[in-house]
Amino acid sequence: MASFVDKVRIQVKAGDGGNGAVSFHREKYVASGGPDGGDGGNGGNIVLRVADNLTTLMDFRYKRKYIAPNGGNGSKSNRKGQRGEDMVLLVHLGTVVRDAESGQVIHDLSDHKDFILCKGGRGGWGNQHFATPTRQVPRCAKAGLPGEAMEVELELKLLADVGLVGFPNVGKSTLLSVVSNAHPKIANYHFTTLFPNLGVIYVDEGVSFVMADIPGIIEGAADGLGLGHDFLRHIDRCRLLVHLVDVSGSEDRDPVEDFDAICAELAQYNSQLAERPMLVCANKVDLLPPDSDNLERLRAHVIAKGYEFFELSAAAHQGTRELVQSIAARLATLPPVRVYEAEYVKPLPVAGDAEAVHVEHIDDTWILSGPWLDRLVANINFDDYESRMYFDRQLRESGVFERLEAMGIRDGDSVSIDDLEFEYES
Ligand code: GDP
Ligand code: MG
Repeated sequence: MASFVDKVRIQVKAGDGGNGAVSFHREKYVASGGPDGGDGGNGGNIVLRVADNLTTLMDFRYKRKYIAPNGGNGSKSNRKGQRGEDMVLLVHLGTVVRDAESGQVIHDLSDHKDFILCKGGRGGWGNQHFATPTRQVPRCAKAGLPGEAMEVELELKLLADVGLVGFPNVGKSTLLSVVSNAHPKIANYHFTTLFPNLGVIYVDEGVSFVMADIPGIIEGAADGLGLGHDFLRHIDRCRLLVHLVDVSGSEDRDPVEDFDAICAELAQYNSQLAERPMLVCANKVDLLPPDSDNLERLRAHVIAKGYEFFELSAAAHQGTRELVQSIAARLATLPPVRVYEAEYVKPLPVAGDAEAVHVEHIDDTWILSGPWLDRLVANINFDDYESRMYFDRQLRESGVFERLEAMGIRDGDSVSIDDLEFEYES
C-alpha cells in the first residue's frame, strides 16, 4: 500500500554567507593602492512556495535534507561574492509548518505568498570596509555568517470549505465528480494514490466553494487501526461536513449503524470535529429495494439528532443540485476557514565559551568571530535598545572581554564583530 505522506519532518539549512576578501589595489604608477577586497555574497534562503500543480510537488518522502547554496567569497577589485540562490521547496496549499521540537506553528501556507523559512547568512565584509584615516592598510576581512538551520514538520491540512465523510464505497468520489470540476482519478499522482481530492463547485455567479473527498474512514480508524485517522486531519479545518450514507443495503450494511460509527470516529479523533456543522445524505436511493425501511429509519434517526437530511442518487445526478444549493446557503452563515496563527518565536541565541571565540589582533583592531558569536550578532536587532542591552550582557557574561584584557587590549582600540565595530572601554 502506498504510504501516506502528508506529515513529514525535514531538515533545512540556509546557505552560509561568503567570506570577505583582503586585497589591495595594484596599478602601475599608482603609489599606494587602497584596500579593494570585496564582500562575501549572502547565502541562499530556504523558501516555501505553494504549488498549484500537485505533480510538481517535491517528494519529501525520499529527500529529508535541504541545504541552500552558500554565498561566494569576495575577491579583489571590490568584487562581491555571488549570492547563494534560494532553495525553493514546493508545498501544497494548506501546509502547516511547525517547529519539530516544540510542535509550535511557524507558518500556515494558506495563501500564495512565499515564506522564508530560513534566512541565508550575510556575507562577510571585505577589507575595503576597514579603511579609516588611521588604518590605511587594513589586513582584515570577515568570514560570512552561518545560514539558519532547523528541523520542521510539514503537515497538510487542506483548505476546503466542505469535507465529505463516510464509509468506503458510499459514493463520495462520485458525488464530487458530479457536482464539481474535479476528476477523482488520482492514480497518476506520485505522492500516494490515496491523496485527498479537491473540487471547486460553482453555484452561482460569484458563489463557489471547495469540497474535499478524503478516502474512506474505516471503522477503528481513530484508534489508528486503519487509514482514516491520518486522513481525518484533512477535514480539521473544513467549515461543514457532508456525511454520505449508503442506504441501498447492497453491501449488507445497516445505514443507522454506519452513520453512528462514523460519528463515533469523528468524536474520538477530535471532539471539535464531532461538533462541526454537518449535513447528512442518504445515497444510492435508486438501488433501494421496495420493501426496505433503510431510508426512513435513517431519516428519523438523523433528524432526531438535529441534522438536515437529503436523499441522493449521486450516480444518477438526483438530488445533487438541491444539495449544492443547501451547502452554499449553509456556508454563507458559517465563519471562514481557520488559518493557524504563528506561535513559534525564534529563541534568542545565548553566549557560549569565551575560549571558543577566534581573536585576530591587527594593529589596534581586534576581530572576533566564531559560531556562537556570529549567531548572536546575526539575530540581534541593533536598532532596538533592549536587544542591544541583551547583546552587551551576553558578551560580558561570556568572559570574552577578560580574555581580550589578558591579551593586551587597550581603551580606544576597535573591537570588530561581523559588521559591528565599537571602541573598547574597560
Ligand atoms: P467512495 O468510496 O465513497 O468514493 O465511493 P465511489 O464514489 O467510488 O462509489 C462506489 C461505487 O458506488 C461506484 O461503483 C459508484 O459507481 C457507485 N455509486 C455511487 N453513487 C451511486 C448511486 O447513487 N447509485 C448507484 N447505483 N451507484 C452509485
Ligand atoms: Mg472515493
